[in-house]
Amino acid sequence: MSNGLAIAAVSAVLTNLLNSWLVDQDLSGSVGSVAVSALAPDLIEIGAGKPSQINLFLYQVAPNQAWRNAGPPSRDARGNRMANAPLALDLHYLLTAYASQNYHAEILLGYAMQLLHEAPSLARDAIREILSARPPNDGLASADLAEQVEQIKILPQPLNTEELSKLWSAFQSRYRPSAAYQISVVLIEGTRAVRAPQREALTDATLGLTLAESKTLLAGVQERMVAQQAASYSMAQQTCPACGAPRRCKGHHQIVVRSLFGTLRLDSPRFRRCACQPVDSPRSSSPLAECLPERTTPELRYLEAKWAVLLPFGVTVDVLEEVLPLQARVATVYRHTQQVAERLEGELGDEQPFFIEGCQRDWDALSRPDGPLTVGIDGGYVHARDGDNRKAGWFEQIVGKSVPTDGSAKCFGFVTSYDTKPKRRLAELLKAQGLQMNQAITFLSDGGDNVRDLQLYLSPLAEHLLER
Ligand SMILES: [Zn+2]
Repeated sequence: MSNGLAIAAVSAVLTNLLNSWLVDQDLSGSVGSVAVSALAPDLIEIGAGKPSQINLFLYQVAPNQAWRNAGPPSRDARGNRMANAPLALDLHYLLTAYASQNYHAEILLGYAMQLLHEAPSLARDAIREILSARPPNDGLASADLAEQVEQIKILPQPLNTEELSKLWSAFQSRYRPSAAYQISVVLIEGTRAVRAPQREALTDATLGLTLAESKTLLAGVQERMVAQQAASYSMAQQTCPACGAPRRCKGHHQIVVRSLFGTLRLDSPRFRRCACQPVDSPRSSSPLAECLPERTTPELRYLEAKWAVLLPFGVTVDVLEEVLPLQARVATVYRHTQQVAERLEGELGDEQPFFIEGCQRDWDALSRPDGPLTVGIDGGYVHARDGDNRKAGWFEQIVGKSVPTDGSAKCFGFVTSYDTKPKRRLAELLKAQGLQMNQAITFLSDGGDNVRDLQLYLSPLAEHLLER
């Protein structure tokens, strides 16, 4: 991340690039010697005997809109600063050519604009090379400009005559042909990024981070990282992906994304349809909102669903909130678990009458399996409840465990009157454990009808043992 020297470093890199470029163009024959500067216009002297000059004047510094969302420094419960959001700036420059002879200003302006057009961003290697070659006394080599997360882009800024006239009257200087550029984005960051929690006497309890501190730290890092990702993404969307023209922003709204490490509120810009797009396409779009349609990270959904199938929903919420910096709600965990289950169910594939594939000749050609699979199955009747009706009757539940010779056992279960794919469910589970058609598989059960039939569909080498 850049530091307070970053603004000066950008000016130095740009003037250096301009200077090298103009030297390469060998203008000594047409224009004579050329000076490149970064001064206020009123300090520039021009006249007979003075060289022609290209000047880059930083006339405005403004906060970058896309990075506004990165927010103020985050603090823990005691008000200690935990993480710094960067100061994100757009730099506005006026490129002006000065000359005392016919056409010299035009030639210089043309070459300089060509350079800024052909190099629309500042390459990190070029920044490093230019700054490290500077004299040590100005300190710009330590600006860390090349290390900032965002690449620095050069965008031409068309100014109308009124804007130009206002600028030049503010400069209190004579008007000269100019072109305006915006340099985005320069990120300046404080060095006091994270403060270690304070401790008094060393005890078991004061050693290392507490759970509360770890939650604050995680939330701070998450907030900052996500703000940077969102700002980078929105920055890249400012131009049309089809033709590269700048897109007009129609406004901003906030989207809320829930993650393992907190609920995040992101600024989502809405852009008007580009002129290159067909008129029947949507009038505007919000790329960030479209990029994050789920609004919940997959890991959060995974943990919610994983705990919710093992514990009551309320306990799941308590466990998640106790160890992670997030706020959960029973209704949301319930909804997400349902969605995950429906997705898994959708991926299961259709029920089939048989899952035995191939014939004896195919099975003989298979490699030798690791060993037999043993599947224990039991069925039982459970008192049912339908909404508030506690007397809905009974339903039959089948549960079981499949134990391979090597590897870990897997459990399964289904409700015979409800499940539309019981054979598929068991077949996929056995397949996941590496079941081959030439593999012995032993079913152990107490002999209930529903239980006994299952293996007939699954494997040619299945045998069934009754447990009494
Ligand atoms: Zn376009």
